[in-house]
Amino acid sequence: METIFTKIIKGEIPCAKIYEDNQIFAFLDINPINPGHTLVIPKESYENIFEIPNEVLEKMIVIAKQIATKQKEVLNADGINIGMNNGKDAGQEVFHAHIHVIPRYKDDGYKLWHGKVYESEEQKIEIQEKLKF
Ligand code: AMP
Repeated sequence: METIFTKIIKGEIPCAKIYEDNQIFAFLDINPINPGHTLVIPKESYENIFEIPNEVLEKMIVIAKQIATKQKEVLNADGINIGMNNGKDAGQEVFHAHIHVIPRYKDDGYKLWHGKVYESEEQKIEIQEKLKF
């Protein structure tokens, strides 16, 4: 599927490129959570994590780690969030899979998601049974 990220890879839309190899491309997010917020994408157009072949996903996460390391070194980030929205209901807006690498700072004002509690111990065990493998 053609998305805005396909056009960025092809150079049809400008971007602030951070990294490129034959399979992976990384560039600054246009609306950063904090300056330096970077998106790591596969050059091949896969919609979400479920479609990305594992070998490509492995490369993406290694590049994400290198970018996170640089964000700590040169932007003095105190911490890094690495995340991926998969599906509209998980907040995905661009349907070309991407990993967000976000520099975080002490007192930057952002919080993580608020946790819930399980309704009961039975509910937790039921879910554990469904998920475990
Ligand atoms: P998501 O909600 O996970 O799909 O995130 C999509 C991200 O793409 C958002 O953080 C946007 O700010 C970012 N984005 C959209 N268009 C561009 C663009 N032209 N250049 C850079 N980042 C973009």
